Amino acid sequence: MPKHPFKDYDEWKLFIGGEFVAGNAPSIEVINPATGEVLGEAPAAGREDVAAAVAAAQEAFRSWRWTPPDKRGEMLYQIAESIHAHREELIDLETWENGKPRSQAGKDVINAERTFRFYAGTADKFYGQAVLDTPDEVRKVVFEPYGVVAAVIPWNWPPMHIADFCAVALATGNTMVMKPAPETPLSALRIAQLVAEILPPGVFNVVTGGVDPGVELVRHPDVDFITFTGSSTTGSKILAVAAERITPTMMELGGKNASLVFSDSNLGKAVTGMRRSAFFNSGQACSGTERILVQEGVYEQFLDEFCAEVEKIVVGEGFDNASEVGPMISRRQQSRIGRDIKQAVDDGATIAVQAALPTEERFAEGNWIAPTVLTGMAPDSDIMQEEVFGPVVCVVPFGDEDEAIEIANGVDYGLTSGVWTQDLGRAHRVAARLEAGLVAVNTVNGGQLGLPFGGYKRSGVGRKKDFTEAMRSFSRVKAVHIKLD
Ligand code: NAD
Repeated sequence: MPKHPFKDYDEWKLFIGGEFVAGNAPSIEVINPATGEVLGEAPAAGREDVAAAVAAAQEAFRSWRWTPPDKRGEMLYQIAESIHAHREELIDLETWENGKPRSQAGKDVINAERTFRFYAGTADKFYGQAVLDTPDEVRKVVFEPYGVVAAVIPWNWPPMHIADFCAVALATGNTMVMKPAPETPLSALRIAQLVAEILPPGVFNVVTGGVDPGVELVRHPDVDFITFTGSSTTGSKILAVAAERITPTMMELGGKNASLVFSDSNLGKAVTGMRRSAFFNSGQACSGTERILVQEGVYEQFLDEFCAEVEKIVVGEGFDNASEVGPMISRRQQSRIGRDIKQAVDDGATIAVQAALPTEERFAEGNWIAPTVLTGMAPDSDIMQEEVFGPVVCVVPFGDEDEAIEIANGVDYGLTSGVWTQDLGRAHRVAARLEAGLVAVNTVNGGQLGLPFGGYKRSGVGRKKDFTEAMRSFSRVKAVHIKLD
């Protein structure tokens, strides 16, 4: 049996200035999304807790920024080792609080570990430039940390979001205050316990809670940089706050990602890839496919084969090894997605197939949504334009390349896209014309360590997961011109 997140752990506390402290706001319930059962209560930060965390990060920045980069890297490496040593426990915690299949939580924790290892190696390899074209002057360009980074993250990949932002921010010499989502506070608090044994006090702080500590954090005057991952709507609100003090930001927001299946593609591989892309992480993935555009000659065949695959999907609780899709994170998300499906049908869509839901009595209060394939939508309908963030995918026919690109680009978002074709020229041509931060050809790529990840249009600004772009996103640039005589 996995350790229970409350019965088998000491009381959960905020992590501020290297200490574990009680929160000053009313605690938040952590709920098992598969059963609706309240697992226990996690702390919530009040205004004073957020202020204390920012002050601790500011104080720690004074020495952290001058800590030699190789030493910072060494500590990040130790965090990776610690995550490795606690891997199974972290996977269980995420499965409890998020509800996703345990095997997928496993990938998340392994990715978090790899991310810390990756940035452990980049910390001392991020150089500026020196321009020495005359003997009596030096001109140089240096990258400097911003200072205190505020990171507000969502609930869909808790350990990976922590690693994506913490590792690069610390590698570049910043310190951090992180505000995890209220649905999944425990992964962050457990990782805080691990880093407490490695990092100097105040370098990394965690303030859990609902929207309020997030609002307090991003508007705190001593925050020097804001990184936010979540909905475009919340992203816009945070950008408005940042605009008041011209605080630099990095935004990783929603998507309405399209994958284009051409008639010259390997259809079997496209079907398998689309099953994974649309339903991985229970469809709660910003990088997942929500619109599959299929060329007319193979549309019927694709739809038949795809629906047959979707019908096979096993929906169940995360700790059941057979589960491929778990519950939605919350009752709120379940209701919203249910409304989106109903609205799509009212607008003229047809439900081509839905997978079966678990029938056991103990799952009656779980946040279930059946994996759903929709057809017959108008291109301008809500279901084709707005992010669902659940296991719901639209399948749409197209005639030629131009039409496919017009439909794919005809949304406000631009996070990821996919192309399935065996024509190399088409692969390059279509990839060039798609408005998205990441294009995967004949494969599924939901964001991979080593490649810059981020959005076009309403999907965000800034890049994470790679060396050059991510390290620069978390650094400011200074030019220094020295006359030597
Ligand atoms: P959200 O954007 O409302 O919240 C994400 C995080 O921001 C949470 O930690 C939340 O407490 C915090 N927050 C909310 N309002 C804030 C504010 N005004 N100031 C500061 N912090 C604030 O996301 P959600 O409610 O958890 O999910 C709703 C939608 O977000 C989903 O349906 C999906 O479209 C999107 N989403 C996107 C991603 C992604 O990776 N891009 C991840 C999760 C959710």
